[in-house]
Amino acid sequence: MPDFVRRSIATLSAVLLALLTLACSDEAQRDIQRAALEKVGDLATEQMANATGAHARAGGDSGRDGKNHSRDFFSIPIEVRQLADNVYQARGVGNTQMIVTSEGLVIYDTGLAIQAAKQRRLLLEAVPDLPVTHVILSHSHADHASGAKTWLEPGIELVAHHEFEEEQRYLKELEPFYHGRNRMLFPFMPEEAPTIEILAFGGLVPTMTVDQPDILTIEQGGTVLELLPTPGAEGADNLTLWLPKEKIFFSGDFFGPNFPQFPNVFTMRGEKVRKPIEYIESLNQVIALEPEMIVPSHQDPVVGKEQIKADLIKMRDAVQYVHDRTMEGMNAGKTVYELMAEISLPPELKMTEIHGRVSWAVKSIWEYYATWFHWDTTTELYHVPRTALFPEVVALAGADALVDAAGAHISAGRNIEAIHLLEMVHEADPTHARGLAAHKQALTNMRDAAIATTNNTYEIDWLSYRLRTLESIGADG
Ligand SMILES: [Zn+2]
Repeated sequence: MPDFVRRSIATLSAVLLALLTLACSDEAQRDIQRAALEKVGDLATEQMANATGAHARAGGDSGRDGKNHSRDFFSIPIEVRQLADNVYQARGVGNTQMIVTSEGLVIYDTGLAIQAAKQRRLLLEAVPDLPVTHVILSHSHADHASGAKTWLEPGIELVAHHEFEEEQRYLKELEPFYHGRNRMLFPFMPEEAPTIEILAFGGLVPTMTVDQPDILTIEQGGTVLELLPTPGAEGADNLTLWLPKEKIFFSGDFFGPNFPQFPNVFTMRGEKVRKPIEYIESLNQVIALEPEMIVPSHQDPVVGKEQIKADLIKMRDAVQYVHDRTMEGMNAGKTVYELMAEISLPPELKMTEIHGRVSWAVKSIWEYYATWFHWDTTTELYHVPRTALFPEVVALAGADALVDAAGAHISAGRNIEAIHLLEMVHEADPTHARGLAAHKQALTNMRDAAIATTNNTYEIDWLSYRLRTLESIGADG
């Protein structure tokens, strides 16, 4: 790209960003700000789509089983489609839904802040001349809630689960921690979390909350909307939406990014604990509704009462199965590692583990009930980690001997055992050339195996992150 083009883009971006910081007191100012936001958002989405395209190609084959990795969502076009007489959806990384009543428009989820202005404009162009009355958020995650500020105006109700503000609080207060982690897994993300108010995470104050276990019913212009607190999936603040007359269930992220799938009982990215039994109860609540259409806030709607029912039951039974086997194993005195190796879904409950892995669910259920002290070793109780002793072990055993032993494990297909030894060598001497090469080989084997089996997004992204880290050492040395 020629320099003057680069400079003009930089200037344009600076002007647009300045517009975004305006305090918008009236309608005209808000329109200018939204137009600026749409331009900035288009640029940012394009950049992310390019970056994730390259990342996905380096990381393996997304889309086996017809299921997609969330990093691929940046290439989804932002466009509006009509899903039922009174239901529209603006597609994007996170979809925004619009329910039309004769007295106004109800919005369910608001997508990413960088895509919200375009999603909003296209939805309001599809159904002009009606006011927005409610913005409902499925939960506090940025890919569902960060677009809300683009929609909100005086008089619009912001509706959320009563746990929403607590979830938003800790995610905001730990933003540097979580953003840093997310960037390791998703290197296409911006270096710093955005600070411009309209793009920044947090700061949303609901004007209506739904208190568990109550269902909040909104009747407007002859349309009945039921808001169901359904915690346990992507957080304690999940709020789903049910249209009883139309039999449409708006799931937000209740199932995760695919339906059906084995859910993330709780995520390896690290967040507050999610309760497995609560999720099973929430699934039972949804099964009882007998939906004819599911509209998730990621990817495509699912239609067909019988298939939906069968898939919902299968998801519930799979979580229940893993939960019960884990408990039995705990009572039988088995270690968490034995149970991770042992427990897998029986053939009739098999489903994609692209988002949640069964063995990680075992570990998270074990820790949900028994928490941080595994009763494995005395040193777990104290502040000196095992890794602190790795240099000493490597000095005694010799780095070359450990790398040779790791090589034998790799040859026998025992890549995890090899990584145990190679992490010792890495701790003692990160630039050890044969150690680096063997380490990269073991990680590559693990990643190939992950792609060929579960195709789990998080596992592949983690292994890719570790590989990038080792490759950067190789490049420096
Ligand atoms: Zn999401």
